[in-house]
Amino acid sequence: MNRDGRSRTRTRARAYAAGALALLAFATACGDNGGGAAAPAGAKAASAAPQPSGGGGTPAAAATAPGAAPAEGDAAAWAKWNLKPLTPAPAPPADKPIKLERSGTVPVFSDVKTTDKVVFITIDDGAEKDPKFVEMLTDLKVPITMFLTKDIVKNDYGYFKPLQALGNHIQNHTVTHPVMSKLSPEKQKSEVCEDQAALTQQYGTAPLLFRPPFGDGANTPTLNNSVQQCGPRAIVLWRESMQIHDMQYQAGDKKLKPGDIILAHFRGPKELKGATMTQMFADLLARIQEQGFSVARLDDYIQPPAS
Ligand SMILES: [Zn+2]
Repeated sequence: MNRDGRSRTRTRARAYAAGALALLAFATACGDNGGGAAAPAGAKAASAAPQPSGGGGTPAAAATAPGAAPAEGDAAAWAKWNLKPLTPAPAPPADKPIKLERSGTVPVFSDVKTTDKVVFITIDDGAEKDPKFVEMLTDLKVPITMFLTKDIVKNDYGYFKPLQALGNHIQNHTVTHPVMSKLSPEKQKSEVCEDQAALTQQYGTAPLLFRPPFGDGANTPTLNNSVQQCGPRAIVLWRESMQIHDMQYQAGDKKLKPGDIILAHFRGPKELKGATMTQMFADLLARIQEQGFSVARLDDYIQPPAS
């Protein structure tokens, strides 16, 4: 086994076996032992410009819109948070890279096949309910996807409603945040189905996506069956994991790639060594920006099942 982590990433979407070790590392990092991931010293990602696929889909012209300077008001909103405006994401692809089916095995993915220089932010669990973060997203309108755990959000379902009202979807992340592969098939199913029911009732729309805590069990038939029986039509993992000021990368070169899904958490000063949720999120945006990426909406790259 080549352990130098430098193997090229062409097959990375399916390299879950290799990712398992990294996932374990993330699981322990959840206990906040300090990832200690140093900032990539001025790493420049510009050289890895992707080739347009020429697959007859969307025109590449939309990928970089030089004239797309943000309006004055937007710039002021970003300045309020000590940030420079992110480059707006290109128009969503008409032909969605991920197409979900109504039935059968659900796909497992940790990135999206695209040549757009975009990444996707997902925020998990729901523990920290900082009103300042709602204010920040209302100002900046950066798209996120939330994977919420019932027992962690049920003391204040309402906190997430203004975030949802901004167009951000709420997805399934179990009832109690267990290590799924340690549970019986029946218990796995109830973890998924009961969170599905609670979130559907609270937020008026059924989650289409599921994420297992720690990424555990994602590729097991038992968990896939549970997800199928409860409603979500895909299992979503991640490529990078936001810590406090920087990300942990699964890729050896520690660079974002087009279509990467980033994991972050609703966390506050207790988990972030004194940093706030908004400071963490500002740092995440800065890390994305310095590598030349925009943040796109995950739903814009997914075709839901035909009804
Ligand atoms: Zn979680």
